[in-house]
Amino acid sequence: MAADDAPTPKRQDRPATLAVRGGLARSPWMETAEALFLTSGFVYDSAAEAEATFLGEVARFQYSRFGNPTVAMFEARLAALEGAEACRATATGMAAVASALLAHLKAGDRVVASRALFGSCHWIVSTLLPKFGIETVFVDGTEEAQWREALARPAQAVFLETPSNPCLEVIDLPLVADLAHRAGAIVMVDNVFATPLLQRPLALGADVVIYSATKHIDGQGRCLGGAVLGSRAWIEETLQPFLRNTGPALSPFNAWVLLKGLETLPVRLPAMQASAAAIADFLATRPEVSRVLYPARADHPQHALAMRQMAGGGTIVSFDLAGGKPAAFRFLDALRLIDISNNLGDAKSLATHPATTTHQRIGPVERARLGIGDGLVRLSIGLEDVRDLIEDVAQALDAARAAAAAE
Ligand SMILES: *Cc1c(COP(=O)(O)O)cnc(C)c1O
Repeated sequence: MAADDAPTPKRQDRPATLAVRGGLARSPWMETAEALFLTSGFVYDSAAEAEATFLGEVARFQYSRFGNPTVAMFEARLAALEGAEACRATATGMAAVASALLAHLKAGDRVVASRALFGSCHWIVSTLLPKFGIETVFVDGTEEAQWREALARPAQAVFLETPSNPCLEVIDLPLVADLAHRAGAIVMVDNVFATPLLQRPLALGADVVIYSATKHIDGQGRCLGGAVLGSRAWIEETLQPFLRNTGPALSPFNAWVLLKGLETLPVRLPAMQASAAAIADFLATRPEVSRVLYPARADHPQHALAMRQMAGGGTIVSFDLAGGKPAAFRFLDALRLIDISNNLGDAKSLATHPATTTHQRIGPVERARLGIGDGLVRLSIGLEDVRDLIEDVAQALDAARAAAAAE
């Protein structure tokens, strides 16, 4: 028993309403807020009821590894926002990615993935899957010819992230979904950067959507979580047996935090996005900045595509400092308000140097292919007053230039 058994949200309700009301299943106590069912198991009225439950004749909660009322509310709320038939929550975003791929694939299968993936997703595709006899092929996600070539042969899954981390490359979802389906593959999209509010991969042709709920869905840096969404048939027949028997379950406590996070997502996201857009425009005026990457800016390489398939540019801005690693480090060390951290999607604005942190392990050759230079900085914009954020970025750029001049 899980999300699908919670009351069906009214699909015609708008996202902000679904984010607050979707999946709400009150206990007999009629509480206002979602109840936290911090329980590992459930009891049966009779031995016969237990038997019938295990025979699958009765749909009810059995054990929190398979399903839990608080987790089910989170799954139903996210499914309603995404417009997906079904959702299963996991302990982390990586548990969601690993489970979706491992549940779907077997030895001898072939996976085509975009090269610009989150570090651990890259490791799963490049290192883990081949250990089990699964062939994996990487393509440059923005190169149509590479997708065409890789998908000219049969494949079982396509895995991609758009916009990508940290260079915010945008991949043409309807195009790739069409090529993938003709090759026999299902399309799995890591939608972390866009959130269900800015991009709906299922409506654009994808089959499975994956989230790290750790990011914008929690949105306040409190807990880890993940989710996989798709058709009821795929979730129940392919994913659920894997989750049930391997156990990457989301804790009910974290599900409760994430339920509350979803309630405010439609308010937080536009505020963070408006600040990100203003900061991108400010960065573009500065002489130290040689390139600004933000999908909603007209100078983004896939700007037209981004505006076709996304409802906005998102909350992440990346930029190159002309002075390379020394300039990037001076800038980061001079920030007074924005913290240095590799997380994103938080209410607190965070800055990262991908080449030496999140993308250190992929090596200089792969970094160069992905456009991750030593001067690249990634900003995840939060909820502080945008004037304070711009002042902080400005003073850090000034301080970095002064430090360089003094050397
Ligand atoms: C953070 C992140 C993940 C992994 O999620 P965790 O919750 O940290 O396990 C996967 N993909 C993307 C794009 C991410 O940003």
